[in-house]
Amino acid sequence: MTMSADAHRVVAIDGPAASGKSSVARELSRRLGFIHVNSGAMYRALAWSVLRAGICPDDEAAVVAHLAEIDIACSELDGRALICVDGVDPGAGLITTEVNAGVSAVARIAKVREVLVAKQRDYLEIGNIVMEGRDIGSVVFPETPFKFYIDASVEVRAARRQREGIRDDLARRDAADSTRKASPLVVADDALVIDTSEMNLGEVVEAVVAGLNEMGLEVPH
Ligand code: C5P
Repeated sequence: MTMSADAHRVVAIDGPAASGKSSVARELSRRLGFIHVNSGAMYRALAWSVLRAGICPDDEAAVVAHLAEIDIACSELDGRALICVDGVDPGAGLITTEVNAGVSAVARIAKVREVLVAKQRDYLEIGNIVMEGRDIGSVVFPETPFKFYIDASVEVRAARRQREGIRDDLARRDAADSTRKASPLVVADDALVIDTSEMNLGEVVEAVVAGLNEMGLEVPH
C-alpha cells in the first residue's frame, strides 16, 4: 500500500494494553476532526464472535473457518468507527473478561491479521484517521510520518484497569502480543515514544500535540 501526497492522513498510536491509547486517540481525533479507529476493537469483535460460536480462540483452523463465514462490517458514524458482526454491534461484549482472555489468541493468527489489516487500511478511503493499535505505525501504515508509541509501567496500567473495574491479565496479553510471529507489538523506528506513567491525560495529549506540530501537523484546540 502506498500513500500519495494528496492522500488522507493517518496518526498512528501504538502501545501495550491499558497504556491510555484510547483516551488520547479519542481527544486527538476530536481536535483534529479525524475519524477515530480503534483497531483492537476489530480483533475483539472477532474474538467475541468466536466465543459466541463456542469455538476455542486457540483453535486456529476453526477460527479461520469462522472468519470466512461471518461478515465483519467496518463503517463510520459521527467520526467514530463502528464494527458490526453479521449486522450486530457487540457493544459492551467487546470488553468482557472472556474477550480480554481470548483476543490475543485470535490476533496472533496471520490470516486474521491479513483480513483485518485490509479493513483497517480501507478507512483511509473515507477520510483522515487517528488509528490506535499495536502495529499501526510498523505494519498497517508504515508510510505515515505521524507515529506515536504510548507506554506506561505495567503497575500503572494494571491500576488503571482496576479503577475501570475490568479484569484483564495485562502481563499475559503483553507477552502474547509482543512475542507472536505475525506483526508483534514493537516500537516503530520513527515513532515518538511517550511514557505516560507519571502523566495525566491532558499532559499526554499535549505531548502528542507538540510532537505532531514538530512533525508538521497543526492541531486546533
Ligand atoms: O487495544 P486493545 O487492548 O483493545 O486490543 C485488544 C487485543 O487486540 C490486543 O491485546 C492484541 O492482541 C490485539 N491487537 C492487535 N493489533 C492491533 C490492535 C489490537 O494484535 N493493531
